[in-house]
Amino acid sequence: MSNRRPHDAPVYTGQGDALASGFMPCSLEPPMNAASVLPAPLDRLLEEASQAALHAYAPYSGFRVGAALLLAGGETVTGTNVENVSYGLTICAERAALVQAVSRFGPGIRIEAVAVANLNHAPSPPCGACRQMLAEFIEPHAPVVFPSLGGNRTMAFQDLLPGGFEMKLKQDEPQP
Ligand SMILES: [Zn+2]
Repeated sequence: MSNRRPHDAPVYTGQGDALASGFMPCSLEPPMNAASVLPAPLDRLLEEASQAALHAYAPYSGFRVGAALLLAGGETVTGTNVENVSYGLTICAERAALVQAVSRFGPGIRIEAVAVANLNHAPSPPCGACRQMLAEFIEPHAPVVFPSLGGNRTMAFQDLLPGGFEMKLKQDEPQP
């Protein structure tokens, strides 16, 4: 059980290209906030995300991520990435946390802040799928803090996912 990583699988160390594509979305912009100057609630949230990353199931990439969500009721819910041998079925830490939050507190949850951390010292902004999933439950102005080059970066959610998918049916259109 302890040696399930395929022998030829590269271990993601965060060195060199941070992403497989070599695209570094945050490389040209300085971090807006270093971890040391984060507001205390975000700092605590980041610490919880780091703790969650210790539970990562990442035998294929070695990339261990944790996420923590601060809910409107003051609760904190964490999640970690869970990989799968099929690769494509892997679930990210952010979505794992979201699923746990809804499971524990119901469909009416509102997210007021998000923290993402990893144990690989690599940039890891939330992926597109996680942004779209979070959009369902998060306040537009909610801060999202994540590892970037040179330190942690904080962005309002609405700036992370402009133009996210919405489904609005026309009121006057007869429904099938
Ligand atoms: Zn994701």
